[in-house]
Amino acid sequence: MVSRRQFMRGDFKSRPPPQRPPWALAGEAFLAACSRCGECLPVCPTRIIVLVRGYPEVDFKRGECSFCGACVAACTDRALLRSENREQPWTIKAQIADSCLPARGVECRICGDRCPAAAIRFSPRLGGPPVAKVDAASCTGCGACVAPCPVAAITLA
Ligand code: SF4
Ligand code: SF4
Repeated sequence: MVSRRQFMRGDFKSRPPPQRPPWALAGEAFLAACSRCGECLPVCPTRIIVLVRGYPEVDFKRGECSFCGACVAACTDRALLRSENREQPWTIKAQIADSCLPARGVECRICGDRCPAAAIRFSPRLGGPPVAKVDAASCTGCGACVAPCPVAAITLA
């Protein structure tokens, strides 16, 4: 769906909602609060925050979020805001597409090896290598599994 802001900008192509840095206010509230100062970019130790049309987004192809909170501390506009009732950084979880190598008969466990939460499990099966499956309850949405996947089969949503 095209948002009002996209419509005003003449941007009619729909694209997935941008992944804001952790503890970001939701949707339009974030856009209203963020002054596009870019202060959250240089403080991120894993350098995963990029500017898209001036606003910060997380690019998991660059690395993972360690949930250090440095971007939140740098955000004087309070567009990234952590408080007692906003403890969760986000609700995104890893999702593995059908292009995943074991699903196509090729042995691979790279994502499981990289997951700091041990949230990717491999179930044995007859006639093929164990298949990767995300345990949504354990996944923190850190994105550590995204960049190492040799076939870019993992997204976060
Ligand atoms: S919490 Fe830390 S690692 Fe995660 S995006 Fe913010 S600055 Fe980067
Ligand atoms: S997003 Fe992070 S916690 Fe979730 S499966 Fe990938 S590496 Fe593990």
